Amino acid sequence: MAKLDKTAQRLSESMKNLHIPGIRAHFEEITEKAKNDSMSYEEYLLALLEKECEVRYNNRVNRLLKDSRLPSGKTMETFDMKRLPLKIVQQVKGLLDGKFLNRTENVLIFGNPGSGKTHLVCAVCNELIALNRKVCFTTSSLLVQELLIAKRDLQLHKALKKLGKYDAIIIDDIGYVQQEREEMEILFTFLADRYEKSSIMITSNLPFSKWDKIFKDTMIAAAAIDRLVHHSIIIEMNLESYRMKKAKKLKKRGDNS
Ligand code: ADP
Ligand code: MG
Repeated sequence: MAKLDKTAQRLSESMKNLHIPGIRAHFEEITEKAKNDSMSYEEYLLALLEKECEVRYNNRVNRLLKDSRLPSGKTMETFDMKRLPLKIVQQVKGLLDGKFLNRTENVLIFGNPGSGKTHLVCAVCNELIALNRKVCFTTSSLLVQELLIAKRDLQLHKALKKLGKYDAIIIDDIGYVQQEREEMEILFTFLADRYEKSSIMITSNLPFSKWDKIFKDTMIAAAAIDRLVHHSIIIEMNLESYRMKKAKKLKKRGDNS
């Protein structure tokens, strides 16, 4: 008995040294199962290694999720795809393998408020994280503020480099706030820096024709649009507001009862 305890302790220490947390946490139950099921040595080793892979994958996905700052709950499971026209469903399905990230394509989602742009982009990004891709969710105002602070501290280059490690940056609601000149300039710097290096995913209530409102300058707006559109997938979500539709449904039910 004492010998067994000592073996278990040495096993645990060795696994700690080797950084195999999955096997360390589960080897006792797997050993028990191996005995009960009369597993071969190979099957036992496989069960241990598969558990390690599973735990490492889950830990990594959780880390990526936390780092992404994606709002919680906006996933494919909670997103009703039946609401979307076939063309958009096909576009969305085309994004889910993450290959557009390898091609450094941008995704530009337009549509009226409440049409589901933010939910859709978050749902897609949750799937990308499950494929081990790094994404970062931000709004244009937050991004601009962070970059302006970095610029003030002479750290802009470093901040852009940090953002460069992500496969995709989501800028939710671009154009929602009226930007100051300094703000739009830094936004343009960011877009130009990322051009053809890695993907950007944007949602906006404003069609391109109104983007000079964001950039306060027709030339800069045109230059920004040009870079974004060059390699891009454009999704037009001109749907009735999801909230409105739900409210109408509820009212109808109320009227009928
Ligand atoms: P937008 O960003 O276009 O203004 P949101 O994505 O914020 O719209 O959607 C508004 C609300 O409706 C959110 O609570 C969102 O979760 C919900 N919603 C929108 N479209 C769908 C959908 N297809 N399935 C489930 N919920 C949806
Ligand atoms: Mg939104």
